[in-house]
Amino acid sequence: MSKFLKVQCDCGSESVVFGDSKSKVTCFNCKKELLSPRGGKAQVNCKIVEIL
Ligand SMILES: [Zn+2]
Repeated sequence: MSKFLKVQCDCGSESVVFGDSKSKVTCFNCKKELLSPRGGKAQVNCKIVEIL
């Protein structure tokens, strides 16, 4: 998934993340882990609102 994704955390904050991110991404608001690196691909742990 080499795309930018707009995701929404459980707390309601939206973030734009890169689908192939090699580092984890946390919510700026509640610090929940939104994206976890999994062997080159990222696992999204929250709702995907839009694929950009
Ligand atoms: Zn959050």
